[in-house]
Parts: sequence; structure tokens; C-alpha cells
Amino acid sequence: MVPSGMSDKRIGTRAVHAGAGLDPTTGAHATPIVQTSTFGYRSFARGERLFAGDEEGYLYSRVGNPTVAAFERSLADLEGAEAGVAFSSGMAAIAALAFTVLAPGRQIAYLGPLYGGSEGLFLEVLQRFGVPVRAVDADDLDRGLDPATGIVYLETPTNPTLRLHDLRAAADAAHAVGALCVADNTFSTPILTRPLEHGADVVVHSATKYLGGHGDALGGVLAGPAELMAEIRMEGLRHLGGALGPLEAFLFIRGLKTLPLRIERHCANARRVAETLRDHPSVAAVHWPGFPDHPQHDLATRQMADFGGMVSLELTGGKPAAGRFLDRLTLFTQAVSLGDVESLATHPASTTHQLLDPELRLREGVTDGLVRLSVGIEDGDDLVEDVLQALTG
Ligand SMILES: *Cc1c(COP(=O)(O)O)cnc(C)c1O
Repeated sequence: MVPSGMSDKRIGTRAVHAGAGLDPTTGAHATPIVQTSTFGYRSFARGERLFAGDEEGYLYSRVGNPTVAAFERSLADLEGAEAGVAFSSGMAAIAALAFTVLAPGRQIAYLGPLYGGSEGLFLEVLQRFGVPVRAVDADDLDRGLDPATGIVYLETPTNPTLRLHDLRAAADAAHAVGALCVADNTFSTPILTRPLEHGADVVVHSATKYLGGHGDALGGVLAGPAELMAEIRMEGLRHLGGALGPLEAFLFIRGLKTLPLRIERHCANARRVAETLRDHPSVAAVHWPGFPDHPQHDLATRQMADFGGMVSLELTGGKPAAGRFLDRLTLFTQAVSLGDVESLATHPASTTHQLLDPELRLREGVTDGLVRLSVGIEDGDDLVEDVLQALTG
């Protein structure tokens, strides 16, 4: 439960308090890790009532667990949603949503580019089950959508050039054909953007990234209308089985409490790194929505409270220069993932996007000189010094 008197508080306060409250049995202040697979019915009669849905209670941790439920309530509260459902990874959340809402002939339309795992799920798995999948153009949304559309799916901002999509426009177009607008809010987090306030119906997160924030747990979560979330719990979660573990839920609850503070620092450091890189002769371009000449800067100003912790840069020397830069960095670990307190760096063309058709890769902005930085919460002076020495060293 949201402790009484908390629902009208600002997001920085709700991040600390929402979802928890004292444990009803022990008074524990921190949310206990209820590390159990199953729950006793206590009596024959109660077991029957629980299964009939005549009494609320926990039965089995694949469909519900008190620690997981506390995380679901906290995240739903921060997103301004009625309810949430948590999963063992971001991909498990997206799969559960798709398999609950879609059916053969019921189309998913998406605004690219997308996280590779999501695009793979749509194109390689859903299509095989008879779900039409269509990539639609943001400027021409109405033409891509028809009454067979069940989901309009987008991320904002999105990899690797930190392009934004207009949530309000996507939601209006989705609603005009009776579809749900689903927004992957992993890059922004509810601290910077709350998609439901811009008309989206469902929010998706890879909790693995900023929500957890410490690179030590995999998880995912959906937030949206209570009825739909209940349906997803009983189908996509119960039958596909990607349930979040109680220990991970505990880590995410802890992560949410510092999310506003961490995001503030991520944003401040990313701004400093972006501004430093922009003026360097070895850098051809820097993608960061905070620059007035970023193609969606105005939209970013409307839709985001700050510009996020991700920065991409293009080195003038192409792949060899990118390789030298990455190998010289000392504070940025070369690894996938993002949103950790530690800074991370990747070269998409040779890693995450390696198998993509080269022409498509270029169309998505993944040039050979492109490097993606997930700027951490270290001291900004050290991060600036590190990128400068890696460029010139
Ligand atoms: C990482 C990521 C996912 C997938 O999440 P996992 O927790 O790795 O399964 C989905 N969307 C975006 C935008 C991501 O960055």
C-alpha cells in the first residue's frame, strides 16, 4: 500500500515511500524478502475460497509474492498507473504483454528503431505465430495503422542516436484505431518522463537498467490499467512463467528509493560529457537530446524533465578510432547494458548491431565510428578527464 497521506506528495518523496509501509506482521521498516515458492492455505475451506477468487491472498510466487507486490506498487505509483506486474527480465515483460494482448491477425505496429531484443521478439517470434508486425513511420502514423492493430509500440528516447518519439501523437493515433499505446520507458524512467501522462496506456521497463541501477539484478515491469494488468498476470505471467524473484524485487525497491538522486547525477554528468565531446576535433557528432540542434530538442523539452544519462558520439576516424577510444577509457567499462551507477561504453556496430544488414545499420545511425556511453554517477570532473585523455592519449 502507499502509506496514507503519500499519494499527493511529489515524485522525489514517493520514490522513497511508495509501495512499502511497515510490514503488517512484524512492523519491519524495510520490505522483507519473502523467499518462498508457495503459501499455506491455513484451512481446506480457505484454499477453496482462494482458488475461487472469493478471498485475496498469496498462493504461489509465480503469480504473486509480497516482496514482488511491493515493487509493483512502487513502480506503478511513480508512473501514475493503477497497477503493475513484475517479471524476471524486461524481455519477459514485453513477451507477456504481447502474448496476452495479441493474436493471429491482431497487428503490432512499432516506431523504430527498437531495442534489438524487442524487435527480434516481434519479427522472429510473433510473426511465426501469425501476428502481423509492421514498422511504421512516425511522420506517417495514420497510414500504418488499421483496425486490426492491437498495439502501437515505441521507445523514447531510443538507441543508438537518442531519437525521441512524440508520445501524445502515437497515443492519439493508436486510440483512433482502438489500439493500446505501449511505451518502453527504460531510458527515461518515471523521473524524466511519465508516458501515461502523455496518453500512453502501458509502460514497459527493463528494471535491469536505471530502476535497479547497480548492475546486479535482472528484471522487468509493466504498469497500466488494473484490469489489463490482472489479465496479463493471469495469462502472460502465469502461463509463460517469467516471474521476478523476491530477492531481485527487494533490490529494485531499494533502487527506486535513490532513483531521483541518481537520475539527477546521471543527467548532470551526461551534460558535461556531451558538452566536452562536442567541441573536440576527433569527434564528428554528439547525439544528446539536450543540444538545441538535436532534431527533437523541442520535443525533449516538452516530454522530459531533463535529458537523461545516455550520450552517443561519432568519431571522425571510424572503427579504428572507436576501438582506440574504448580501449583507452579507464572509468567506462566496455559492456552492454546501461543505467548502472558505473559508466559503461559500447561500440554498437561491432557488438549489439553486428549481425544487422549493413545498410539497415547505417539507416539506424549505427556508423562504424559510433560509440554509446551510459554515463554513470562518478565525479563529473573525472569522467570529463577520462573521455578527454581517451580521445587524445
Ligand atoms: C535492456 C532493454 C530491454 C530488455 O530488458 P532485459 O532486462 O535485458 O530483458 C528492453 N528495452 C530496452 C530499451 C532495454 O534497454
